[in-house]
Amino acid sequence: MKHDDCIFCKIANGEIPSSTIYEDEDFRVFLDLNPAARGHALIVPKEHYADLFELDEELCKKAMVLAKRLGTKMKEVLGSDGFNLMQNNGEAAGQTVFHFHLHLIPRYEDDKAGITWKPGSVSPEEREELVNLLTKE
Ligand code: 5GP
Ligand code: ZN
Repeated sequence: MKHDDCIFCKIANGEIPSSTIYEDEDFRVFLDLNPAARGHALIVPKEHYADLFELDEELCKKAMVLAKRLGTKMKEVLGSDGFNLMQNNGEAAGQTVFHFHLHLIPRYEDDKAGITWKPGSVSPEEREELVNLLTKE
């Protein structure tokens, strides 16, 4: 389904022009308007899914294969030194467009992308509690 008020529905389905670098029946991949680094692109499904949790599992697989393929091409063509794959879900995680998208971010030794976090800490008790919670059937 498409959502009338969703910008990525309109871009993915060609109603709004974009700098497209790849398209197939399921996805459009286009350059991010405000790139973190040179070549930053977004893999966007043509159907509307708000986030990863809504995304159809077959499309999950296809998106990851596409990321590998396009990431390889970016490395070759743009000469990037590294590569980030990023995907935000929910406002608290930095999602601003609520139509699933996977960020492809080629990285360069001297870029200013700064995709990082301050390393935290966890006590042995807390770690055990987490393992218990996350392995419970
Ligand atoms: P999020 O923060 O939701 O993970 O990422 C949204 C991304 O979409 C941002 O990197 C932003 O620059 C990009 N973006 C937002 N609106 C548009 C648009 O209209 N066109 C393009 N090409 N990118 C957009
Ligand atoms: Zn949408």
